[in-house]
Amino acid sequence: MTVFDDLVGQDQAVAVLSRAAAAAGEVVAGGRGAGMTHAWLFTGPPGAGREQAARAFAAALMCPDGGCGHCDHCHQVLIGSHPDLESVRPEGLSYSVKQTRELILRAAGAPTQGRWRVILFEDADRATESAANALLKAIEEPPPRTVWLLCAPAPDDLMITIRSRCRQVTLTTPGTEAVARMLASRDGVPWETATFAARAAQGHISRARALALDAAARQRREAVLGIPRSLTGVGECVSAAERLVKTAEEEAAAATAALNESETAELRKIYGEGSTGKGLNRGLVRGGAGALKELEDRQKSRATRIKRDSLDAALLELVSFYRDVLAMQFGASVELANDDLRFDLDQLAKKSSPEETLRRIDAIMQCRERLAANVNPQIAVEAMMLALRG
Ligand SMILES: [Zn+2]
Repeated sequence: MTVFDDLVGQDQAVAVLSRAAAAAGEVVAGGRGAGMTHAWLFTGPPGAGREQAARAFAAALMCPDGGCGHCDHCHQVLIGSHPDLESVRPEGLSYSVKQTRELILRAAGAPTQGRWRVILFEDADRATESAANALLKAIEEPPPRTVWLLCAPAPDDLMITIRSRCRQVTLTTPGTEAVARMLASRDGVPWETATFAARAAQGHISRARALALDAAARQRREAVLGIPRSLTGVGECVSAAERLVKTAEEEAAAATAALNESETAELRKIYGEGSTGKGLNRGLVRGGAGALKELEDRQKSRATRIKRDSLDAALLELVSFYRDVLAMQFGASVELANDDLRFDLDQLAKKSSPEETLRRIDAIMQCRERLAANVNPQIAVEAMMLALRG
């Protein structure tokens, strides 16, 4: 077993990364290590496993055996506690220049374990322009033992000056069967459930795992995909919009609550509140209040982002439904993402035209754009539901 085993359906990327890890090992041993690169860009569709691939590569760099998957180094990298791995992800909607500068300072340190210092930058596309400029400087002149791993959906999402300095690793959408096999072998999911989840998730691995293992996720999917047949009148459209927005909010609230709580407790501990009580001097208390305010602001913007992401995921699910309808209307022999809802798909395919289906898909895509542009979710989703009813 190696750290690359979990990268489903990414043989080509794995080959490149394994060779690079071997070259990196030569450098550590004092050799030339031809082929070693200090900046990498991992791209690929959502859910293909960009971060996972970057993390596996980080483990392969830290591990004396090139990523054996079971030593302390591998283990620490995979759970995110390795002292030489700096893993960052923007918590809000973007990554600021201040955060980036702090990161660059930390990146400049020598590796404590003698191999590499690795900075894993998730969602590098969310860096603001000035943050990206700061990042560019750091990548242009990397310290000899620092490796940057940037992740983004597509190369175009980063400034050309940054991506031209990175070696690119392109991940592809893994096939249904590869994902199903992974769910069956690693998570022990029964084959039928595994294929259902893999198909419904359309190559999105963590989504497939959630659908296979979490009954609540399956219920939410059913609720979303039940929307098209529920849109019988204007009132139904309005309440469907309300439900969809509320579900996304609940999902986001659950995801953020636990995170927020532990962060706040941690900060209170640092500033002594609750542990040393009145022994604090005034300056510290003031600093503590400021830091707490800053943390709350960050948490708020992270909650906004998670809310937006989960609503967007629901909209993409609706798109997959209408894409299936369109495939049936054209009699295309493609795999249906929502094969379990064949009856609903068939009904809609028969009583509407392909033009109508395309118009509906358009309405959903337009809604996504409006949400990205900060339109009030209830208003944007309501307009979409009315267009879906047609
Ligand atoms: Zn190892």
